[in-house]
Amino acid sequence: MRPQTEMQPHPHGYQGLRADHVFDGERVRDDRPVIVLRHGRIEAIEDGPIDASLPVTDYGAATLLPGLVDAHAHLAFDPSGAPAEQFRHDSDDILLARIREHARIALLSGVTTVRDLGDRGYLALRVRDERRPDLPELLCAGPPLTRKGGHCWFLGGEAEPGAALTDSVDSHVDQGVDVIKIMATGGVITPGWTPYESQYTAADLRTVVERAHQHGVPVAAHAHGADGIAAALEAGVDGIEHASFLSAGGVQASDEVIAALAARRVFVGVASARLPSGKPLPPLFQAVAAVFARQYRAGVRLVCSSDAGVDPEKPFDCLPHGVVDFRDVIGMDNLSALTAATSLAADSCGVGNRKGRLRAGHDADILVAPGDATTDVSALSKLVAVHRAGILVS
Ligand SMILES: [Zn+2]
Repeated sequence: MRPQTEMQPHPHGYQGLRADHVFDGERVRDDRPVIVLRHGRIEAIEDGPIDASLPVTDYGAATLLPGLVDAHAHLAFDPSGAPAEQFRHDSDDILLARIREHARIALLSGVTTVRDLGDRGYLALRVRDERRPDLPELLCAGPPLTRKGGHCWFLGGEAEPGAALTDSVDSHVDQGVDVIKIMATGGVITPGWTPYESQYTAADLRTVVERAHQHGVPVAAHAHGADGIAAALEAGVDGIEHASFLSAGGVQASDEVIAALAARRVFVGVASARLPSGKPLPPLFQAVAAVFARQYRAGVRLVCSSDAGVDPEKPFDCLPHGVVDFRDVIGMDNLSALTAATSLAADSCGVGNRKGRLRAGHDADILVAPGDATTDVSALSKLVAVHRAGILVS
């Protein structure tokens, strides 16, 4: 599809974008507005007559929507490798190159903001601070807090219960993290602690939350098992990652905990996006998907994210497939699935005031999908254009 540009560049840097369909991050705009950009921001959304000197790119039979926000990725991980091995062997320079390359892949797939929830040595923060216009905006957690030998210990964030936890929060804040990530339970990629075993008590988690909040920094807790999820909720974390309710016998969700997740309005990062395999979901994945469908029906705020990097089905361009799965596997309508990867995801990362919505004053991170993405979100995997801070990157 060739966009029609009607005029020469505007002397004051204004440009306009228009298409037949618009999703503004929350709802459909069917008045065919012109989105006016200037200096990397959305200046205005004009639904009336526009200045004749404004150069407008009209994409025609396409959808304008906010850039996707991936609220859970690991840019330093090579998705095709074994994480513990990679981090034993790979130098900082290798990891830095990987972080930049992966961030670029994410951007080209429409992800204009990436929250990195676990690197080694705060390397993702270094790339964040390069502020490169050809990469997504990065928000970074640094090494996740975990028990000695616990989940993802190889990233360097070991902190035992007690003073080590508050010291660790302080040192993360000194390094400039955007969020504290703590492994409330074990996980699937590190032997030693199973996903349904709690690594910390609710009191430990509360210590971390209180300290982080004193610094004005939010906390995201990785939690699979029901006990860990409940402990994270009790501790007042801002977001719970996974919330899969994995148990020794498969999946065991508790209506009580699900109701509490909904009542507290905590963000739940589903982190389930993966490439389509063409095969039916394995039984355990089906059981986890059914738990998310239950959470959705109960009113839990489910954020569509990827956990990109942790396995070969999770490369850095898999998030658009996660949006399709939110519709087809969790049972959302198209607009709710889009919202979960745009405005809701931005809100969950604390950047909802400038990301995830097409709104005056927001960053001009804007995607163009073919056809009407508001009635078929699979259009997200065939993007026509990606604008990052007003610049066309693909
Ligand atoms: Zn993760």
